[in-house]
Amino acid sequence: METFLANEEGYYGQFGGAYVPEILHASVEALRQSYLPIIRSEEFLTEYRSLLRDYVGRPSPLYFAKRLSERYGAKIYLKREDLNHTGAHKINNTVGQILIARKMGKRRIIAETGAGQHGVATATICALMDMECVVYMGETDVLRQRANVEKMRMLGAKVVPVLSGNRTLKDATNEAIRDWCCHPSDTFYIIGSTVGPHPYPDMVARLQSVISEEIKSQLLEKTGRDYPDTLMACVGGGSNAAGTIYHYIDDPRVRIVLAEAGGLGVDSGKTAATIALGQVGILHGAKSYVIQSPDGQIEEPYSISAGLDYPGIGPMHANLSEKGRGKVIPVNDDEALNAAFELTRLEGIIPALESAHALGALPKMNFRPDEIVVLTVSGRGDKDMDTYLKHFGK
Ligand SMILES: *Cc1c(COP(=O)(O)O)cnc(C)c1O
Repeated sequence: METFLANEEGYYGQFGGAYVPEILHASVEALRQSYLPIIRSEEFLTEYRSLLRDYVGRPSPLYFAKRLSERYGAKIYLKREDLNHTGAHKINNTVGQILIARKMGKRRIIAETGAGQHGVATATICALMDMECVVYMGETDVLRQRANVEKMRMLGAKVVPVLSGNRTLKDATNEAIRDWCCHPSDTFYIIGSTVGPHPYPDMVARLQSVISEEIKSQLLEKTGRDYPDTLMACVGGGSNAAGTIYHYIDDPRVRIVLAEAGGLGVDSGKTAATIALGQVGILHGAKSYVIQSPDGQIEEPYSISAGLDYPGIGPMHANLSEKGRGKVIPVNDDEALNAAFELTRLEGIIPALESAHALGALPKMNFRPDEIVVLTVSGRGDKDMDTYLKHFGK
């Protein structure tokens, strides 16, 4: 049977793989050989599950959104990753990777961050586990996500503002990779999404797959059936989407619809809609779609949402889109803002701007009246209040 999960070399169809400089080869290879035996070990599973339950607060609720359902004419369930400790799905991955890092004897942790959610999740777990933590963050994001920067510093992490490019996630990732190249033996790089060289996309997808594992049992309990008709999530690099779809990815009964950041519009030149505009290329160690100029220069992306402001997309999602297994819809800034206000007023839930892109895809959908939809609310809106207040009433 055809699978949409990674093969042994980390390829999803033509996408993925590990394209790394020679100096990182040994580190990536060591991780490739270690991650599956560690993730499958009893010792890891016991510690990982107990931290997810007692520290992160899992399982996250699956909430039937009655008023939102009435608005869109389907049965819409929200997977509440916004209720996790630190406010987003990112911590599922961070908890897992730090346990892997410790098992591999690494003491120094580095990370990149866009919205700051991955940085906060990493700094949080480093405080908990008493590990040194350095977080790279584009200066543009440092300025628009100040509360998260203060949190990381309070947690004891060193936040390094990155001044190259347009000073967002892509540039922070470049800088983190540079650091890793200088300290390959003692440093573990915790990547925050399903991007980067193999084994990262597969490792992160597995660590986030707790989301769809829970959806299965929660749906069964609530509807008598353990699968939905449609799954929806936003996609930056793709980790909350990967977690949402993981256990359904090869189940043709389940439709997959993902929302990427349209920015000011896919034809505006100010966008991060990688599936709409990208060409096959290599970015941050993997082959995927990348927004690039005709001569292969990475274009500067734009989105109102720092967590989606990335010119690439995970190889899993590139393959889903190419093969027609999943549909990726661009959702523009204004559509996401409207969706955020709508959810707030209908359900009393202020979503993260990233998650608001998934909600912003709802008006673009056709649903059957009894269709069961699970939409992942990847994070909460606290970090985006300045942006929301600026647009309130417009
Ligand atoms: C980081 C982030 C995203 C985007 O990252 P993915 O890896 O695509 O999930 C989405 N939502 C929130 C709340 C985030 O913090």
